[in-house]
Amino acid sequence: MTYLDFAATVPMLPEVIKAMHEAETKFFANASALHTPGHLAMNQIEHTRELLAQLINADPEEIIFTSGASESNNTVMRTFEGCQIETSPLEHHSVIEAARILKGDSLPKLYSYMLANNETGEILDFYKSKEDCYFHSDLTQALGKIPVDVKKLGLDYATFSAHKIGGPIGVGALYIKKGVPFKPLIIGGNQENKRRGGTYNTVGIIGFGAALEHVLKNKTWEKYDTKVRELRDLLAKRILGEIPGSSLNTDLTPKKSLPNILNVSFRAAEGESIQLYLDAEGVIVSTGSACAAGDIKPSHVLMAKTGDAEVAHSSIRFSFDLSNTIQDVDRVMEVLPGVVDRLQKMSTIPFDSSQ
Ligand code: PMP
Repeated sequence: MTYLDFAATVPMLPEVIKAMHEAETKFFANASALHTPGHLAMNQIEHTRELLAQLINADPEEIIFTSGASESNNTVMRTFEGCQIETSPLEHHSVIEAARILKGDSLPKLYSYMLANNETGEILDFYKSKEDCYFHSDLTQALGKIPVDVKKLGLDYATFSAHKIGGPIGVGALYIKKGVPFKPLIIGGNQENKRRGGTYNTVGIIGFGAALEHVLKNKTWEKYDTKVRELRDLLAKRILGEIPGSSLNTDLTPKKSLPNILNVSFRAAEGESIQLYLDAEGVIVSTGSACAAGDIKPSHVLMAKTGDAEVAHSSIRFSFDLSNTIQDVDRVMEVLPGVVDRLQKMSTIPFDSSQ
């Protein structure tokens, strides 16, 4: 299988699986309990908190654990219920939908701008527009791929998810700068200093910690910047050169996009059909964001960027990680031109591939 859907989820790293497996028997206790097994579990949780704090340049007390980026995003939006909330049009649905339902017109104001988009990899220039407001950024896709420093970015809140860096699905974190407004989403427990109720997911948080250790130890953002960027750019170049009607939705200029995401549209070929044909050949890609799969509406991100439903409907996202090699690019290019050609020939949209 050629897996190129790492932006949807990264398989758990071997060291994550090992750490979680050991934790099942070693750190089984309720981490809030006052007995020794409870303390041992809590120490592990605090270790993960310190690792994330180190990676993003925060204080450990400024971090709470959640069930994932969707919960972290919802928690921030809920804190600003009834207030003015402005989001970029490229946000994940867990920001856009929550903001749509919760926003009002009272003061203060929240801006929510992701640092890097999950569908096109675009890096947003958001920090230039911030004044007189609280500022949240969804850093889910950025963590581990590019340097992330919450202080340099001037953030009040930031969202993270473990499964995008090789940790387990169902674990996330929220950075909450000291002194900013905060309302817990899950009420009814003293955990996380009353900021998030619910028994600690010790094993999951330990897995998150192992993934963070991997990121810190390997400085993965440096490797993405060279090795992964090279593969991504090579695939882009080959697609443009070898497939008629192809156009990039990702700006390959360094600092304009994450190094691991490539979004491409193919004129007169539908994204879902390309994905299914590639799947049958063992090449795994996605159309826009997996969270919207099954949704027949074109991607809101591509619509916001291009305003063209045809471009949005004919898009495919390739997303790499450090395990990919040039053979993966070769494999895509063995099958993709034939798949696109077949679909273009079947299409009702007129398209002359010789032009
Ligand atoms: N925000 C972004 C930018 C994402 O890419 C995702 C995952 N697709 C999420 C939020 C949701 O993450 P989780 O699965 O941890 O809820």
